[in-house]
Amino acid sequence: MGIHIHPSVDGGVKKGSGKFAGGMLVCKCKDKPVKVEIKGDVAHNHACGCTKCWKPGDATFSVVAVVPSTNLKVVENGDKLAIVDASATIQRHACRACGTHMYGRIENKSHPFYGLDFVHPELFVESGSAEPGFAAFVSSIIESGVDPSQMSAVRSRLKELGLEPYDCLSPPLMDAIATHVAKSKAH
Ligand SMILES: [Zn+2]
Ligand SMILES: [Zn+2]
Repeated sequence: MGIHIHPSVDGGVKKGSGKFAGGMLVCKCKDKPVKVEIKGDVAHNHACGCTKCWKPGDATFSVVAVVPSTNLKVVENGDKLAIVDASATIQRHACRACGTHMYGRIENKSHPFYGLDFVHPELFVESGSAEPGFAAFVSSIIESGVDPSQMSAVRSRLKELGLEPYDCLSPPLMDAIATHVAKSKAH
């Protein structure tokens, strides 16, 4: 049995064009889909194994990236959106009809990632957005039901795809968080 990571990478990671100018994220509804317009490319795109990120079908990981909140605009059928868990750090806005998470926003101004929204690039109608570059919270897939004995095979497959597996975020992002914490303690 092959290891399924996510449908958008199982056949190999497709490189972004490097000049993606933005596009439209569309939910899975046939009728009146929610549309979210993104200006410019996504950043820090990665596979995520946490239990909170939205995953399509039976995917083991989500694929999630960030954009500046100012570059994101709900343009159609925003009345179908609802916050999945208002107590979570990331307020994930999902379509009430099809369940697709359209964007996640951090409302806490002192959070290191305040000002960024989390989006799922696979929902873009357009192709060419920046490809995923690593895998985060890999061990957390056990919480979603993956057998612990599968983990070395999952990590090998991620490495083979060029998605270096980490059990938290990638070192540059962990460094960014620690830098933010150090600065906020400095005064
Ligand atoms: Zn929908
Ligand atoms: Zn996640």
